[in-house]
Amino acid sequence: MDNITASELAGFGVGTLLLCATIAAPRVDAFISASQRSSLGMCKRCGNLRMIACSKCKGVGLVKGGPFGFILGSDLYQSLGDGGSKVQSIACDKCQAKGHFSCPDCSKMASV
Ligand SMILES: [Zn+2]
Ligand SMILES: [Zn+2]
Repeated sequence: MDNITASELAGFGVGTLLLCATIAAPRVDAFISASQRSSLGMCKRCGNLRMIACSKCKGVGLVKGGPFGFILGSDLYQSLGDGGSKVQSIACDKCQAKGHFSCPDCSKMASV
């Protein structure tokens, strides 16, 4: 067990927490929104924000690429940051690094 330090555990905890928060928030929002927003006359998809968060990059616009090749691993690696290797963030190809798309419903029904 001597290869797991307190800081590593802390980094893992924070990384997991952040990841959960960023994933959970839009999902909960989307889950609640559909019925609520339609009853309010708002756009079901985006609540009149006219944009939808990108599911690939979680609205950040960047996807972390690195030695582990997936987001949680890269987060962990970055938060440990014990010198040397840097985790590279690459532009999300799904949203062209914007972090969001324009809402198809809103662009369709611009008069509403
Ligand atoms: Zn994206
Ligand atoms: Zn919309």
